[in-house]
Amino acid sequence: MDPSINFIDVQSPINWDEYFMCQAILAAYRSKDPSTKVGAVFVDQHHHQISMGYNGFVAGIDESKLPWGKDGSVGVEHQKYGYVVHAEANAILHANGNLAGSRLYVTHFPCHECAKLVASKKISEVIYLSDKHRETEMNRISRKIFELTGLKTRQLRMEDRMVDRLRDHFLHSIRDL
Ligand SMILES: [Zn+2]
Repeated sequence: MDPSINFIDVQSPINWDEYFMCQAILAAYRSKDPSTKVGAVFVDQHHHQISMGYNGFVAGIDESKLPWGKDGSVGVEHQKYGYVVHAEANAILHANGNLAGSRLYVTHFPCHECAKLVASKKISEVIYLSDKHRETEMNRISRKIFELTGLKTRQLRMEDRMVDRLRDHFLHSIRDL
């Protein structure tokens, strides 16, 4: 018998960075926020997902009594900002295991409030997609917090080609049942 029979050269079509960022994007999709949907996933050194979160109102609160708008002509009491918990904060709150040394995959570069939480949890690296608020003071505070705590940050680029392949996989999966 040919000893090489059935030994086929294979590899996963998605790497770990892309896989966990997809998880973060999917988590973001759960958010009810009509303007900004953010997702976050914590992953340990063995590439196991520890926790996920997305931006949403305080857990267990009567959401029908709270506004999702962000019209600044009224006080923050009447804006979503008064009641929303950010994706990173939710993921930290809902983690059962220790987050120290884990990586954070997040769809948007963390705000300064989340940066405080993330750095305090001794996360090793933050991998993010969007950096659209880079020039803001709050963003500079986040970067300073990460820099002074030795926390690495890295922007991930997702290729359109990978997303196309993923779309094909989704369609194939649901149509082939
Ligand atoms: Zn935040």
